[in-house]
Amino acid sequence: MSLIDAQPSEITTQAHYLLTDSRQLSFAARSMFFALTGERHDGHHFLKEVHERGVREFVVEKSSLTPVLKSEMEAWKDATVWVVPDSLKALQNIVARHRAQFTIPIVGITGSNGKTIVKEWLAQLLAPSERVVASPKSYNSQIGVPLSVWNLNDTHSIGLFEAGLSRPHEMEQLEPIIRPTVGIFTNIGSAHDEGFRSRKQKITEKLRLFTHARKLIYRHDYQEVDEEVRLILQRVNPALQTISWGTADSAEVLVRYESLESFTRVSLTGTLGTHQFDTHFRNEAALENLTHCLVFLLDFGLKPDVIQDRIRALRPVSMRLQLKEGIHHSYVIDDTYNNDFQGLVMALNFLGQQENRSRRAVILSDVLQSGRPAEELYGTINQLIIEKKIDLLVGIGPEITRQAGHFKMSEKYFFQSTEAFLQTFPLDKITDSVVLVKGARPFHFEKIVNRLQQKVHGTVLEINLDALTHNLNYYRNKVGSGTKIMVMVKAFAYGSGSAEVANLLQFHRVDYLAVAYADEGVALRQSGITLPIMVMNPDRSTFENLLEYGLEPELYSRRILDEWLSFANNQKEETVFPGVHIKLDTGMHRLGFEENDYDWLAERLSSNPTLRIQSVFSHLVGADEGELNAFSKQQFERFIVGATHLETALGYSFIKHILNSAGIVRFPEYKLDMVRLGIGLYGLEATGQDQRFLQTVGTLKTTISQIKYLKAGQTVGYGRRGQLSRDATIGTIALGYADGYDRGLGNGVGQVSVNGTLCPTIGNVCMDMTMIDLTEANAEESDEVIVFGKEIPITDLAQRVGTIPYEILTGVSERVKRVFFKE
Ligand SMILES: *Cc1c(COP(=O)(O)O)cnc(C)c1O
Repeated sequence: MSLIDAQPSEITTQAHYLLTDSRQLSFAARSMFFALTGERHDGHHFLKEVHERGVREFVVEKSSLTPVLKSEMEAWKDATVWVVPDSLKALQNIVARHRAQFTIPIVGITGSNGKTIVKEWLAQLLAPSERVVASPKSYNSQIGVPLSVWNLNDTHSIGLFEAGLSRPHEMEQLEPIIRPTVGIFTNIGSAHDEGFRSRKQKITEKLRLFTHARKLIYRHDYQEVDEEVRLILQRVNPALQTISWGTADSAEVLVRYESLESFTRVSLTGTLGTHQFDTHFRNEAALENLTHCLVFLLDFGLKPDVIQDRIRALRPVSMRLQLKEGIHHSYVIDDTYNNDFQGLVMALNFLGQQENRSRRAVILSDVLQSGRPAEELYGTINQLIIEKKIDLLVGIGPEITRQAGHFKMSEKYFFQSTEAFLQTFPLDKITDSVVLVKGARPFHFEKIVNRLQQKVHGTVLEINLDALTHNLNYYRNKVGSGTKIMVMVKAFAYGSGSAEVANLLQFHRVDYLAVAYADEGVALRQSGITLPIMVMNPDRSTFENLLEYGLEPELYSRRILDEWLSFANNQKEETVFPGVHIKLDTGMHRLGFEENDYDWLAERLSSNPTLRIQSVFSHLVGADEGELNAFSKQQFERFIVGATHLETALGYSFIKHILNSAGIVRFPEYKLDMVRLGIGLYGLEATGQDQRFLQTVGTLKTTISQIKYLKAGQTVGYGRRGQLSRDATIGTIALGYADGYDRGLGNGVGQVSVNGTLCPTIGNVCMDMTMIDLTEANAEESDEVIVFGKEIPITDLAQRVGTIPYEILTGVSERVKRVFFKE
């Protein structure tokens, strides 16, 4: 079949699944692949791979069709390739046409915060009486929305979709895809303000989602929202019926919150009648989200007593998918929040990305709220499980047990209940594996996770994998697609856990990794990392390892270069050597060849072709310091002289790089072929200039082991250094200098956060423990203590003890467990 030039509206498809990311491919024969071009990714690079894996329907962009690509695709006899001006528009158009076939109520949710929670809660609250389809997690972007709405089918009775914006004009695209019949505008805050001229503009833009809606629920207390609804939206959509709720008398539904002993009473009076509901939620954001749900459900016609029953069972939404160290040398992916089909697909994809263990296992409950016939559902899950190469399956629940026949793998076990599983299943059947534990809430799979995970006592360093991805993308955008990225994962990935971080980076296809020592590289290879890895401090004694594991040495002096050469010359003829990296010293005076070495170097390299140069690089001494700008410039110029010298002498070119994280921000003009990203990935922007664009990656947490009530005049800790001038409540926390908590932070220099209150240290920091003053806090034994994270920035800790953030981050000792999570 040849390529078909088409407008988006002409495209037809038989596909069940729309795919925009080749890594998410599960059902090749039933998928249509959209090659999207973004700032960082170009889907056209993956067409061949996706075709080889069995996909037969494609949408590609005219401007990306190189002659080579074109002739390659013309040879795919059995494929259909639609050529369009813009693949994203085509995706959106197809889904908008799909949406237009349905007449069920569709709820469109937008606003600054709470979109996902309101959507998840409504899904939970409606589930007992409706067949709900909803956006998975927070799929609310230009790509996420069409992928969500595509799941809508004949079996559903209501749809819940959220829409988010990051820049103007995006809502125009999303509106026809969701085409909500009912709208919910959650609230307005400052998130993503950058792209917009004003808050008003942002509100107007968001309200475009409701230009064809019949009804809109919003909070009247946000005055600007109220104004924009009346001034603009109601002009565009005069038939719109509004239900505004709020705490002022002018709201259509007046709401009061009364905080009682053990619950909050929410009273509503107005156009929906007079009602009272009790909830265990207390904080404002939760109450606001809940009120949106209450107003929606009352208007939807649900009986107040039914609503009361259902909100009692509501739990805070935690969609975190956590990766934890398990027993029997395993990892556990903890996803016990819910179990709908879309969530399962995502969790299985995440499982599929884990290369750190040789086996994969899944513990799965009945899938609830799928809106599909059981036969078809479990048949599909079986295919997914085969596709993701799962070795062992445990199914728990009456439905999945009844459908056991659908699962074709050899190692499988079924149980009627979680209790039956816990009582009879020998857990040592699951060793050396990555185990996904995925269950709907009523199955209480947290009990299974508890059993499988290695007991984490006291202190953990939580690593937010989404924040890591966000930060990586931030730097990727900054350097653009023409410049490669090498990520520094030395020192246990700056304390964040090398294997897990590297696994994520490999998934996101960074170009290079770098470590300081050979054994760090070996450890990465042993946990399944196949990316090229540079070793900055190779040593003669590690050369065998470099060769065996394909690790690329940095050669920085005549001595080390000759040692590598003589090692290489002693290997068998046919040996393939890893490429090498040449370090030039342009002013750091740490490692590297100097100017007077260049002729020698050029001669050695050109007469020894086993030395294949991958890259030549140097390092700035003061990329983050304005007063050293002139020196940085000099270094750059010296580097270019050196690199050009080598290139001319050798007659071939290689990757050249000089920038670290701070350099990427301050010297974009020096980015060359590659940059070396370090501390910025971990959420710390060394120049301070762009800190607001990065997300916090690490949170160090511990717990209170004991609380004491002491009198003025008593003392705390070694040497009686903690003097009490008043009666005080003192807590002992499970963290000391051996965990990396700097001894300089003792005696009130440092502070930690306990239930939102900052508490200073008191007395000296001990080896495994520290005492804190809890007098102002509301705390009990075993409560969580935040040592650093969002509330207590690492930069602040570093300043207090007169060091740099790097030292705080890499100083967290390895005995502190790392726990990884995704939102
Ligand atoms: C550690 C390191 C980097 C990364 O520096 P950051 O300041 O963390 O970005 C870059 N290049 C070299 C040679 C390094 O050793």
